[in-house]
Amino acid sequence: MTNGEARTVPFRHSGFVIPSSLVIRASSFLVVFLSIFPVAGRAGDNLGILGARPRWSVLEKYQQTITHDEFAHLINDVYCTHGFAPDLIEINEKTARLLMNRYSQKSFTLRFAEDDSRRKPVPRLWRPAKSLSPSRPDKPLSGLKIALDPGHLGGKWAKMEERWFQVGDSQPVQEGDLTLRVARLLAPRLRELGAKVSFIRSGNEPITAKRPDDFRELARKILIKNGVPQPRADVLDPNDPAKEQTIRWQSEILFYRYSEIRRRAALMNFKLHPDLVLCLHFNAEGWGDPNNPTLTDADHLHLLVNGSYLAEELEFDDERFEMIRRLLSRAYDEELPLADTIALAMARETGLPAYEYPTTNSTTKVGSSEYVFARNLLATRLYRCPVVYCEPYVMNSKDAFARIQAGDYEGSRTINGVERKSIYREYADSVVKGLVEYYSKARAATARSGGL
Ligand SMILES: [Zn+2]
Repeated sequence: MTNGEARTVPFRHSGFVIPSSLVIRASSFLVVFLSIFPVAGRAGDNLGILGARPRWSVLEKYQQTITHDEFAHLINDVYCTHGFAPDLIEINEKTARLLMNRYSQKSFTLRFAEDDSRRKPVPRLWRPAKSLSPSRPDKPLSGLKIALDPGHLGGKWAKMEERWFQVGDSQPVQEGDLTLRVARLLAPRLRELGAKVSFIRSGNEPITAKRPDDFRELARKILIKNGVPQPRADVLDPNDPAKEQTIRWQSEILFYRYSEIRRRAALMNFKLHPDLVLCLHFNAEGWGDPNNPTLTDADHLHLLVNGSYLAEELEFDDERFEMIRRLLSRAYDEELPLADTIALAMARETGLPAYEYPTTNSTTKVGSSEYVFARNLLATRLYRCPVVYCEPYVMNSKDAFARIQAGDYEGSRTINGVERKSIYREYADSVVKGLVEYYSKARAATARSGGL
């Protein structure tokens, strides 16, 4: 499940577009939108939750690395498909004017390359497949640095994350445990094929040193700013919808989502420097009461890459900056064909149909496989390299639930009348197949063209 679903914050507020204290419900979930602009940062900064002040000067190194047409295509068809306030990004013939801060009216000028032949090389720390040397056929991933990001925390945190349900006396289903299990099966397979594999987490403990109590004061301020003048401290009844207006609930989400994912990003960007991040998740449909969850017949697959920013997300100076930096790094050129290839391999292996988002308010279908969507998630935005975010299986579908209960095993077993591999192995095998296919093809092409 992505962090935009299931458990989200009910308040939608940003400095310019939406008045504070407006509560918006989007389909069955609530939409997260909190600005802590009046709480943190200097006067005039408009930053997302726990966001860092953008350093626009780092974009200098991207001068003349992109043509007008390519920039306009990525803005219009990938990153800003929901539109944006016209003063934020102005695309001219030779330059783009990017608003850094509306308060000070300062902007950054990006100069385009005149044409493809005069394009300067894109500076980046990760390596696209075509820049890797040709590989031996049995080691198609040789030299490739892959970081695995098993989604969520699991363990004792699973209930807090609301990534937990239990049917009767059966084994509780905790997404953070399932994703870690898949990562542990995946890593040795990728290493055999020549990849250098790292884990962003290898257990059920958070990366962030913060805990919910560290965010109580910030949670209180956010609630007050969003129209709850005297927020309650605690959740009294877990089924009370007003629990989201408590300091406890808000401080927990600040801990396990915002603080945790930002710490993972720091580790990724400053220490691991992978060529590719695989975010591993299991999807779900609304299950209602976690102690008496609804099981469904629906089961499906989709993958996400970064893009499809909402107009109100682009109002945040840090999000707009991170979007532009990501666009200029050209991560999309690598992650889209990779996601398409992995998606088709997963579809073949799992037999799952493509997911259709109930609304297209936050996503844009991209690529050619029917399974890949662009969406602005914290992880896909902040990890500064290609990121493929996998969302196979509905954990509370009758099939996936039975397979999760069956645990991991070798070979196949009959589950709900069908011979199936273990769900964990099927997941790992399908990702491996997709990666092998993508890198074998890309590196064979490099070999044919004489290498780099
Ligand atoms: Zn998830």
